Amino acid sequence: MPIISIKDILEAKYRIANVVHHTPLVRSESLSSMAGVELFLKAENFQKTGSFKIRGACNKIFAIPREEGAKGIITASSGNHGQAVAYACRIFGYEATVIMPEGGSPAKAASIEAYGAKLIYCGTTSEERIGLAKKICRERGLTFIPPYDDPFVMAGQGTTGIEIIEDIDEVAAVLVPTGGCGLISGIATAIKEQKTGIAVFGVEPEGSNSTSMSFRAGKRTALDRIETVADGIKTTIPGELTFPLVQRYVDDMFTVTDDDILHAQFLILERCKMLAEPTGAVSVAAVLSGVLPEKFRGKKIVAVVSGGNMAIPQLADYLKKFCQSRH
Ligand SMILES: *Cc1c(COP(=O)(O)O)cnc(C)c1O
Repeated sequence: MPIISIKDILEAKYRIANVVHHTPLVRSESLSSMAGVELFLKAENFQKTGSFKIRGACNKIFAIPREEGAKGIITASSGNHGQAVAYACRIFGYEATVIMPEGGSPAKAASIEAYGAKLIYCGTTSEERIGLAKKICRERGLTFIPPYDDPFVMAGQGTTGIEIIEDIDEVAAVLVPTGGCGLISGIATAIKEQKTGIAVFGVEPEGSNSTSMSFRAGKRTALDRIETVADGIKTTIPGELTFPLVQRYVDDMFTVTDDDILHAQFLILERCKMLAEPTGAVSVAAVLSGVLPEKFRGKKIVAVVSGGNMAIPQLADYLKKFCQSRH
């Protein structure tokens, strides 16, 4: 039995409806003509906290009994998941603790603190941070919220897929940026268990392709080195709970280069006036680089733009380099 089903996702949608935005599907004329498909962007960069991660965090926190939640919540991610957990805890009135890496981004620290969460700095690897989180959970009875390997988190992320099906008919394929596979396992379950006939594809950077490797090998396979601009999906191995759903429901996995990703991020800004973070632009990068099989030509394609959180000075830096390289 798979760990989640469409029923869990529909329940999640109902539960989190008052907290999350139903984000728009943005049709882009000029990206469509570049790609030779009819392209729609699922704009999760406009989501509360700037990424889809609030969907899963919120669904998980709803599922925790009040007396447990009141003891406090902890997570080890300093990125979009950390921000989502901090925001959701503020709504529930729970104390949130986020464990950051030593020397982690001051912009992210400030945003997590602005949502009222406490920060603890620890080590540089995620193993060190997760180790500390588990220790604090044991000692102080806090509840740990995993970034993807959790049925409530996965079902929450899957609500993105329900919205796509509700908003547009005759979609041929949905492309999803893929890290630990919480987002794609949820979306693929929503789409395939409703028998929509829509293809679901995962997209990874070439330098962080553990799910593609695992998908081809037919078993979870770890990378020992990761190198990509897409800092939200630097995962060395797909999740234990998420990966079986990827195997069951995902049609194929594609990879893109860092250049493809930055180019897509630039075009999303220039043509659609939307700010995607590099990780959020990975799905659009795949469509523009022509990875889709011929049968999708001219068809309606949805690229999930999964997030838009990025420090503006870093964006300015990218844009300057990008514009120079074009001249
Ligand atoms: C976390 C994240 C992803 C990947 O989600 P997984 O559930 O880990 O596969 C993609 N895009 C953005 C912007 C993210 O924050």
